[in-house]
Amino acid sequence: MKSIIELNAGLKKQIDEIAEVAGYLWQRGWAERNGGNISVNVTDLIPEEAKSFASLQQVKLPKAFNIIANNYFYVTGTGKRMRYVATKPMENGAIIRLNETGDAYDIIADQLVIPTSELASHLSMHSYMREFRDPNMKVVCHTHPTDLIALTHNKRFLEPNVMARILWSMIPESRIVVPRGIGIVPYNVPGTMELADATILELEKHDVVMWEKHGTLAVGDDIIETFDMIDTLSKSAQIYLLSKQAGFEPEGMTNQQLDDLVDLFNLPE
Ligand SMILES: [Zn+2]
Repeated sequence: MKSIIELNAGLKKQIDEIAEVAGYLWQRGWAERNGGNISVNVTDLIPEEAKSFASLQQVKLPKAFNIIANNYFYVTGTGKRMRYVATKPMENGAIIRLNETGDAYDIIADQLVIPTSELASHLSMHSYMREFRDPNMKVVCHTHPTDLIALTHNKRFLEPNVMARILWSMIPESRIVVPRGIGIVPYNVPGTMELADATILELEKHDVVMWEKHGTLAVGDDIIETFDMIDTLSKSAQIYLLSKQAGFEPEGMTNQQLDDLVDLFNLPE
């Protein structure tokens, strides 16, 4: 059977980029076993003929997501490993279509792969982005970056703005690539709507959120740029932790040096 991605070059490119990032998550050591999940709103890329594809299975959602009713998403599969999403994205993820009331979805391609158990939280974030942030924000990416998670095991870094300030000051790139800083969400059971709701509150001000003792969640327009934000923060965390291991407190850039970047690169305040 022909894959849906063979019907539209734009959709193929999008799935290729998701697979590329899934590979990076695995190579970085951020995706042990079936850790992490990705969802991307692909509504604009669905080929006309695929809109009449038969449902492989219909699944009820815990609530109605009417803002994104009739939207299509690529979602990584429950229990699926990122290292296999990297090589076979359509065997380890699915394309789903929300129904016209947004309270159920159909799996339409390519195979019967059940979406991540965190789908409802992802859809909450997609709804939020569409309604309140920016309809161009189509990507939700959750992963387990070792160095960033390590920092969340110290209460000092969970205070507002502390982690962002330290990581920004390690390299100028951090201030530029993650201009809205990092939101912090205290520990909550993975996959719950409580965790999703707490994350959405932080997404009002940030594009990257740290979940205490668990991982990161990042949103954006583009899966590659969403990965880049986490990668850059991880680099800063490594510099910080390496300096500490070497026995010194890293000096960090001054407030003035950081503020200069805001003007120079026209960053959001
Ligand atoms: Zn996780």
